[in-house]
Formats: sequence, structure tokens, C-alpha cells
Amino acid sequence: MAIRVSRTPFVGGNWKMNLTRAGAAELARSTAAAAAGRRVECVVFPPFVYLPDTIAARTADMCVGAQDCSAETQGAFTGQVSAAMLRDIGCCATLIGHSERRHGLGETDALLTKKIARALEAGLTPVLCVGETLAERDAGRAHAVIETQLRGSLAGHSEDALATLVVAYEPVWAIGTGRTATPDDAAEAHRTVRKTLASMYSVRFSEQARVIYGGSVNAKNAADLFAREEIDGGLVGGASLNATDFAAIIAAASSRRT
Ligand code: PEP
Repeated sequence: MAIRVSRTPFVGGNWKMNLTRAGAAELARSTAAAAAGRRVECVVFPPFVYLPDTIAARTADMCVGAQDCSAETQGAFTGQVSAAMLRDIGCCATLIGHSERRHGLGETDALLTKKIARALEAGLTPVLCVGETLAERDAGRAHAVIETQLRGSLAGHSEDALATLVVAYEPVWAIGTGRTATPDDAAEAHRTVRKTLASMYSVRFSEQARVIYGGSVNAKNAADLFAREEIDGGLVGGASLNATDFAAIIAAASSRRT
């Protein structure tokens, strides 16, 4: 039997390697204003170097996350940033396994499970990204890929430890391409995510976890996507760099009925 739970919509703005210091601070202030009073958990993910300026603009309605964290706790890891350091400066969350890291930098599920451990130990909300490539979708393997990535990335973590987990379903072919999954396709993939979580943990856990969609979400298509019961919000790249567009996306998530 399905358990009815209320899941607060989650909207993330992944700024990737964009903006200037002044631009990041300005966008952070506009985004915080757009999130004010909305029924939404809004998190922006600036480049590492702009975290402090962005954190200076955080409010009760908008917090700041990192685009990645190290799988290690401390030591001789040149160029890496630990989850504890991110928490120390005021981050609330971190992306884990964005496709630009899985596919661009060869990050594996075995590495990602360690990153999730570090994020959880530090008290950061892990936003785990999963999703298939176009070749995998065309080969009819989309759902198998999602399941494999979830099982691999979450291996070794208990349901209790993962209480804050957010899963972002991000089909690789839709990221930064202007090509969005249809609400039907996205909803179907989200059901796969929940089915996998239910089989790994419990139905209750699968119904409580936020599952969000990412891949060319914009001010025009957000409401249709978020109207689906399965889709608890979005992880937004390009459109999160435009304050007006992102405000519309936040508003669409906030008015979603759960
Ligand atoms: C992303 O960066 O996770 C993303 C979905 O980007 P875009 O919205 O630009 O497709």
C-alpha cells in the first residue's frame, strides 16, 4: 500500500563554472528574494571560490551547496575540498555524481558512495544525480542504468543515515541541450527511482525521499514537469543563471500540490 507523505518541493540551481564574484553575490541575493516565503527548499550551487560570497546572501529560504565534495576526510589530496570544510563555512548540501563528473571526470559509483558517506558525516544533504546517456536510452537500458547507479552509489548506507537524501534524475541527453524529457518519461524514470529505493530499503523510505528532475528545465516547462505527483522539484543549470527565469521555476515548484 502506498504511504501518502508530504514532500517539500526542492529546487537546486547549479551554477556550474559560470559567473564572476560580483555576479554570484547578485544572483544569490535575487534568488533568495525569489525564494522568500515560498513553500520550497531552495539551494544554489555556486563554483567553490564563490561559496563565501553566496553564503553571505543565504536566508532561511535559500541555502548554499557545493557542486562536489571529496571522498576523503583530510590530508594529501591536492585540489580537493572536504565535506567537513564545506559544512564549516556554512554549506547545507552537496551535489554528488553530477553527469559532468561521472562522464567528464570518470567518477564511479564506488567513489560516489564514499562521497555520500563524507557528506552525511558532515551533515550535508547529498543530492545524488543519476541518469542514462542517449545511447543507453536508445538501447532500452534507461531504467536498468538508473537502478544500477542507485544501487552502486548508495551501497553500504542505511535508510536512517539517508534520511535527507535527494535523488536528481538527470538524463544525460537532456542536460544543457535544450532537450527536456517529457513529463511522462520523467515521471516513469522517477517511478523507477522509487521502486529501486523501495527494494533497497522500504516503501516508506521510497515515498519520503525527494526525487527531482534535471535536464533543460526552464521557466516555460517547469510547471508541467512539477505537476506530476512523482516529480518533487528540479535541479536546474542554465536557467538558474537568470534570476527572472529561476524565480518562475521556484514559483512553479512552490505551487505544486503534494
Ligand atoms: C544540471 O546542471 O544539472 C542541468 C540539469 O543543467 P541544464 O538545466 O542546463 O540542463
